[in-house]
Amino acid sequence: MNSLFLSPEHVLQGGYFNSTLRKLQEPNTSIEPHNIMYPVFLLENEEAMQAVSSMPNVFRYGINKLIPALSELIEKGLKSILIFGIVETLPKDASGSSADSAENPVIKALPRLRETFPELVIACDVCLCPYTSHGHCGLLGDTGAIDHASSVTRIAEVALAYAKAGADIVAPSDMMDNRIKAIKDALVANKLQNRVSVLSYSCKFASSMYGPFRDTMKSSPMAGDRKCYQLPPGSAGLAARAAARDVAEGADFLMVKPGLPYLDIVRQTKDRYPHHPLFIYQVSGEYAMISRCGDDAEVRTTLMETLTCMRRAGADCIITYFAPLILNIIGNKQ
Ligand SMILES: [Zn+2]
Repeated sequence: MNSLFLSPEHVLQGGYFNSTLRKLQEPNTSIEPHNIMYPVFLLENEEAMQAVSSMPNVFRYGINKLIPALSELIEKGLKSILIFGIVETLPKDASGSSADSAENPVIKALPRLRETFPELVIACDVCLCPYTSHGHCGLLGDTGAIDHASSVTRIAEVALAYAKAGADIVAPSDMMDNRIKAIKDALVANKLQNRVSVLSYSCKFASSMYGPFRDTMKSSPMAGDRKCYQLPPGSAGLAARAAARDVAEGADFLMVKPGLPYLDIVRQTKDRYPHHPLFIYQVSGEYAMISRCGDDAEVRTTLMETLTCMRRAGADCIITYFAPLILNIIGNKQ
């Protein structure tokens, strides 16, 4: 007789023949409402609602359309959102002055969102690229290269403006060195450090999977690309150093973006910083791929499998355009 059949340690299938036992074999991979964050695109026109052609079932909202949409999702359990402002008529200039002007859609919407949904965790993306005439995430110096010092100062100003307007979390997505410390210092100086946290896009790669998002945000750079500040896709070392930098500067939460092709970076980051909640941004390219992977049932099972794998790799929260669908799926299970 083959001795393999006599080795008890090689007999595995008795441990997962039943769905309850399978759950025990997948610790820390459950998907509950606090494990997902919903990104929303906010328009200047308060009554507008626009479909995003490259992303099925994703819309850009004016605040008067966003509030009823969120109400429905909060009923189903939604706990947190990440807001991106989109300007269509406000001026874009070299310093991104519309990022924190009184007319900025995020600045205007935050007090209303705060009042309407007191329990909702509201995170705001902080970057200059949607508001700069050149489309870069920082300010440019005379040579056309990013001017680091003035960029960091400006990014901290914008983060502070969102914090003052009611954001719970500010999330700098620019990838400039030292902006986390600048933001933290600004929060402390304004006595906001105990009610506003910083979610750093710490490991953000220069990915080709952001295409549909740039289409949504109308934020592609006019010249050049973002490879001088976003990480090269092959570099696990830079990702480790970027996370270390942001932890040292005081980030409350870390992020890996995109998600699925970068799960080794998720595991690496979680192993090094087990005490920092870790976010994944499931990006627009991932959304587009999964949306088109088959019929409705196949989309649902593929989606839930990818979320489980992200949790297995070490993610605590997944920022995903699929949040409405996920809430339906997990709501129907309970
Ligand atoms: Zn940017």
